[in-house]
Amino acid sequence: MRCILLIVLDCVRADHVSAYGYQRPTTPTIDALAKHGTRWTRAYSPSSWTKPSVSSMLTGLYPSAHGVFRGVKSRRHDINTTTDALTTTTPTLAEALSRAGWRCGAFLNNAQLGEYTNINRGFDTYVPNGGKVDRLLAQFDAWLQTELNRPTFAYLHFLEAHWPYRPRRRHIAEFGGNRDTNCYRDFSAKDYGKLRREMRKGDKKLSNHELTDMIDMYDGAIRRLDGKIKIVRAMLDAAGLLDETTIIVTADHGEELNEHGSIGHGQDLSQVLTHVPLIISSPQYSPGNRLTEPVSLVELTPTLLKTVGISCSWSHGNLFHQTQPREPVCAELLVGRRYVQSLWVNEWKIVRSYHLASLQDGNDKINGSPCAAQLAHKPPASIELFNLSNDPQGTVNLADQPFAQEKLRDMTQHLDHWWSSCTPKYDENNSTQVSVNDDIVQRLRDLGYID
Ligand SMILES: [Zn+2]
Repeated sequence: MRCILLIVLDCVRADHVSAYGYQRPTTPTIDALAKHGTRWTRAYSPSSWTKPSVSSMLTGLYPSAHGVFRGVKSRRHDINTTTDALTTTTPTLAEALSRAGWRCGAFLNNAQLGEYTNINRGFDTYVPNGGKVDRLLAQFDAWLQTELNRPTFAYLHFLEAHWPYRPRRRHIAEFGGNRDTNCYRDFSAKDYGKLRREMRKGDKKLSNHELTDMIDMYDGAIRRLDGKIKIVRAMLDAAGLLDETTIIVTADHGEELNEHGSIGHGQDLSQVLTHVPLIISSPQYSPGNRLTEPVSLVELTPTLLKTVGISCSWSHGNLFHQTQPREPVCAELLVGRRYVQSLWVNEWKIVRSYHLASLQDGNDKINGSPCAAQLAHKPPASIELFNLSNDPQGTVNLADQPFAQEKLRDMTQHLDHWWSSCTPKYDENNSTQVSVNDDIVQRLRDLGYID
């Protein structure tokens, strides 16, 4: 194998990918990759928004271990805008490959992943502001053509399914929709951000018509994105690399479309935000495999390193290893003053949430952090338990049901065990906080993340 290509589709949830049973043909190219590769039916993202999730994918560590939880927390007019970044001692996939002689290139267009995050460590070419998708692909293609004799790791991150959804007219028409009459046709990221705030406050509920229109736009955007993957394959083919490339297609998280009264992502660890597609097409593995054990995207780093014969001492999962016991499959999120953690075992899922203000001895001026020592002695604000075999979207909380108490104890034990063994623990005093400049703040505002 001469090439590894990691394709991350921002915001693409598994149940809107046709290879995962979606009734609309959103992803013919991805479906073909799945047919000739391996598909994981229960792959979970380590968080529900870009920065912590991608940090986990590219380090093989959960957010508690790499410490990248928070985005830009200050708002407009605040010159001291800071955000979490990887520490210089956190190992990365690209660094390990680079040390072994691989050339590593990343091509993306997401302000959450700028060089200020240190996620670029190990990449000799890192293009965080690659522009619109065709421009980004042209840069990738030009880079691909150079040094073809060296083993190559490329990371492509596509933003096309992130709001504001911008499908072509023909992509919506494929599903019977009409872009010209769609009420979200001219919606900007700022408009989506405003709509979400109104929905959260309870000031706005989506009508059936509005929801249908939003889903049409989202699905159309995925369909458009799928066409770009076809172009990527053609580029690999033209470079003579296609038959020697392991292609990974996944997403950093999903997208909520009103299932829990909100839209977008990053608000919780629900199924629609954490269940992501994961497909690996590789000359090393036999085609048509379907693996059904829950897996985490943190396992990508150790799996890929193992595949190319590089040892990975800091992360131990293996996506292809499906027999029990497997590594725990978890996710974490720090949102506002809430810290949420979840864990999956077979068809069961537990979600536990803490109010961080209560961890700070009443001093609500201190920004909270999920320090293990604090959480160990505090009762959680809520615990939810779901059986995904008959409730695939996790909407019926069984935690209070008498018949589920034994399972609840069992899952709580799994979560406690994972939490106590997940080292090093995130510690606010030990994390890297970096300042971001006005350009980054404006880009985040353009994505609808800052008011
Ligand atoms: Zn994302």
